[in-house]
Amino acid sequence: MQKYSYKCSHCRYSIQTKGPFPFYIKNGKRVQVDTFHEATTHPITGLMADIYCAECDKEKRYIIRKYKKPVSNILDIWSGNIAGTEKRFCYKCKKPIYLILPDNKIKCPRCRKGTFSINTYDRDTEEDFLNHIPVSAPKGPLKIIQNKKSIKVPKPTVIIDSSERMGYTFCRFSNWFAGTVKKRLKHGDYSIQGMEEQISIERKTLPDLVGSIIFKRKQFIKNMEQFSNLKKKCVVIEASFSEVKSLYSESNAHPNAVVGSLIAIQEKWDIPFYFLDSFELSEEFVASMLSKYHALWWLQKNGFGKYFIQGDI
Ligand SMILES: [Zn+2]
Ligand SMILES: [Zn+2]
Repeated sequence: MQKYSYKCSHCRYSIQTKGPFPFYIKNGKRVQVDTFHEATTHPITGLMADIYCAECDKEKRYIIRKYKKPVSNILDIWSGNIAGTEKRFCYKCKKPIYLILPDNKIKCPRCRKGTFSINTYDRDTEEDFLNHIPVSAPKGPLKIIQNKKSIKVPKPTVIIDSSERMGYTFCRFSNWFAGTVKKRLKHGDYSIQGMEEQISIERKTLPDLVGSIIFKRKQFIKNMEQFSNLKKKCVVIEASFSEVKSLYSESNAHPNAVVGSLIAIQEKWDIPFYFLDSFELSEEFVASMLSKYHALWWLQKNGFGKYFIQGDI
């Protein structure tokens, strides 16, 4: 099955689509087909895909093709003209939705400034090097070597707070995580399953940060005080320090008031703030941090040393 990833040209928000995949009906239920074998025992009813609605900012499963008569030979399905731009309409907002997004046409719902184009995170282009664009994230598993032996730490599951909107999906990091689940978190936005009371990471875009510190200050201070009870916590900011220190286009708040407050929070409650430039880099930082924190915890719990490579870190 083909997977597609798209990235906003302005804020680098990324979204995914998947498909198409054949399905058949069994006992009134749709069954997704993954292997050729299944296809021969069950005639295929049609094709489904996970396609994206920019208006709702949601990936949704749709039937994108239904055959007049069920098809038994899977080769007939794949030889058909299935790929290509599939324009459908969202059942909720009635706006067009896509499996393959037309390049630079669909507006990003997150920043409302950029448009989506295909994500090249899995390959660094020459243009990226020339423009000093950060290299893509590592694709291999976390490396742990103790007593000259490589140790395989089971991949953890990331918890994403259920109220988190337009946040990280960790789709790029299947090398580090078993998957993600959405769940209500008491503190922060991201944690590891089974370690919710130990570690959590709070995510802030620049407008979120300014809004919290200046306009929802009481609530934010209360949240930070509670957050500080966790063993491991931090706030990641999807902006550079110079952006936080510059006048804001959407608010009259003074940058020094914002910076002063967040450093005061950091020192009072020992909550580090990280300035991570963009959505994409911040997601990678959070993924790497969760993965490494979990690995060290697992190693200790299972009688290994608290280190990755003997004689190193
Ligand atoms: Zn955007
Ligand atoms: Zn919609």
